[in-house]
Amino acid sequence: SSVAAQSPSGTDTHCPYCALQCGMTLRPAADGAGRTGLEVTERPSFPVNRGALCGKGRTAAEVLAPHVRLTQPLVRSASSGELEPAGWDEALGLVAGALARTREEHGADAVGVFGGGGLTNEKAYALGKFARLVLGTSQIDYNGRFCMSSAAAAGTRAFGVDRGLPFPLADVARTDCLVLVGSNLAETMPPALRYVTELRENGGKLIVVDPRRTRTAEQADLHLAPRPGTDLALALGLLHLAVAEGRLDTEYIETRTSGWPEARSAAMAHWPELVERVTGVPVPELRRAAGLFCDAGHAMVLTARGPEQHSKGTDTVGAWINLCLATGRPGRPLSGYGALTGQGNGQGGREHGQKADQLPGYRRLDDPAARAHVAGVWGVDPASLPGPGRSAYELLDALGGDVRTLLLAGSNPVVSAPRAAHVEQRLRALDFLAVCDVVLSESARLADVVLPVTQWAEETGTTTSLEGRVLLRRKAADPPEGVRTDLEVLEALAARLGWEKGFPADPEEVFDELRRASAGGPADYSGISYDRIAQEDGVFWPCPEPPGGEGEGARPPHPGTRRLFLDRFATPDGLARFVPVMHRPAAEEPDEGYPLLLTTGRVLSQYQSGAQTRRVGALNSAAPGPFVELHPRLAEQLGAEDGDALTVVSRRGRAVAPARVTRGIRPDTVFMPFHWDGEGRANSLTSAALDPVSRMPEFKVCAVRVERAGPG
Ligand code: SF4
Repeated sequence: SSVAAQSPSGTDTHCPYCALQCGMTLRPAADGAGRTGLEVTERPSFPVNRGALCGKGRTAAEVLAPHVRLTQPLVRSASSGELEPAGWDEALGLVAGALARTREEHGADAVGVFGGGGLTNEKAYALGKFARLVLGTSQIDYNGRFCMSSAAAAGTRAFGVDRGLPFPLADVARTDCLVLVGSNLAETMPPALRYVTELRENGGKLIVVDPRRTRTAEQADLHLAPRPGTDLALALGLLHLAVAEGRLDTEYIETRTSGWPEARSAAMAHWPELVERVTGVPVPELRRAAGLFCDAGHAMVLTARGPEQHSKGTDTVGAWINLCLATGRPGRPLSGYGALTGQGNGQGGREHGQKADQLPGYRRLDDPAARAHVAGVWGVDPASLPGPGRSAYELLDALGGDVRTLLLAGSNPVVSAPRAAHVEQRLRALDFLAVCDVVLSESARLADVVLPVTQWAEETGTTTSLEGRVLLRRKAADPPEGVRTDLEVLEALAARLGWEKGFPADPEEVFDELRRASAGGPADYSGISYDRIAQEDGVFWPCPEPPGGEGEGARPPHPGTRRLFLDRFATPDGLARFVPVMHRPAAEEPDEGYPLLLTTGRVLSQYQSGAQTRRVGALNSAAPGPFVELHPRLAEQLGAEDGDALTVVSRRGRAVAPARVTRGIRPDTVFMPFHWDGEGRANSLTSAALDPVSRMPEFKVCAVRVERAGPG
């Protein structure tokens, strides 16, 4: 069948890393000598990346090699205190025993579950169901909370539903003005940059907002470099100029939106001169940006983590959405607002129930109708479903307190969480930690039991890309002996805890149940099947199943929804909502003791916590370790030169890494990538101040001081 898509040329599938989910083909290595016997080749027929891959995708077969990953369960020995190889029966028995015991002794909410945005839709769905049914706990959340939850919250608030991009990525190439806010596409998802290049070849304008002159910013017609933590003021300043210069789309505001007067008043309080003082962006640059954006026939704003990972991330994204609404962009062709999701299944991972406040289909857990629908699919009483739990950081912070046992799957918070040393300490304080992972990550090293699981090319499952396109990752290779799929692990644990049925290990069976659970919800997958995804190169949600279902006599299938909001928004009255927002300072502003700003991000050759990419030789040679990027003026003040070891100190800890001196950063700001553990761990420094709506931590700005590290 097309689902298998095995041919002599290989198996068509998708990259294990970022949300672009590039199409690729895995085939037997040409010389047969590769460490895995497989190699990644181009798959030009897939329309999003059309064969292009970044270095991470090209080398993705290497993480399948047995020597870089776990191939048998590990159990912490009572005598040596070390993790030692064990059989599956013993390991699963220990985990099930700990889950049951904690529940019995301390109540269901003493058991926590922490998932990941890299898990397939099927795994995210099964994990959420396992937590709420088998464990009966409300304490489940996932690392996607650290990724783009502010954009999701702001999108839902304004449009009634959040889908990263409400239009295909290819629309970027045909708009007239693109504003990229806090996105370094050139390094985070290089194949997507092609659309930006096409945009410029077509005569479109590119504005990049980033405190660093990144490789992406270098391509811009206009690069605005605001002080970290002030994107909100910048967006309000642009809206102020749009109002003052009469560049609004008043008909659109009247017919397609609500709440404009309040949003207008908030923007009018942000005079350009005030915005210049707050952001450091000169008024003429503000005027030029407002002119380019407002005068363009079609225009769009895309945000990424830059404006989102803040204690005011939801309002910051809201300010950019307000600018788009006031100029009549969302729901119009080649225009609008979108968020560039980060993790491989960042979109689908947040739709199917591993988030503290959500049920499958992107339904709210506190909505009685949603509870009744999902409970019906699961065959349980809606009243038996727990309510919303804590957000990711709050859950991690509660470990060893009222949450005593944790099941961690597909995440490495020791490296990726804010205030990481504290999080590490909380993980150590647990009564019991069980980790399902592919490799022995820094977090897995702390576990009582580690369960080795399969990864991308060793299992079939779906992911949902940043476009809302549901894709099929196909199994292309058998896993090493001794490794099981996450679904098999959940099936086995559920059985040991008294649930013989309801947790199938077959991904297509799980997907079929997910379809039913999502039916009628905002992210409706009911009309999507593995066969359709395979035949159509992905299907965009919502895609409801037509009344009458499939089969003979049924209505034609729903085509899926490439572009949202063309006629109405997903709000009760169909109107997009302006939300009045005001600039406010970061949770931590520089002072005498910590006079500089730290911002964090990614580099081209590593991915997230680096658990996979640090194990790939070519990627590691290209990006072997952390660094501190700083302006020559600051370097001179410190008496430091390129390569000198610097110590960065915040109120939460310190990190040591070599200096990288560049004019491409503001003199008041230093930058560190966050992919590493050890003394260069950037997240030892970051702040856990949370956004009140999205509960996103403030990764993107905190106060630090920088010193030259002592010898040795
Ligand atoms: Fe993989 Fe993202 Fe690179 Fe594409 S851009 S090859 S999806 S890491």
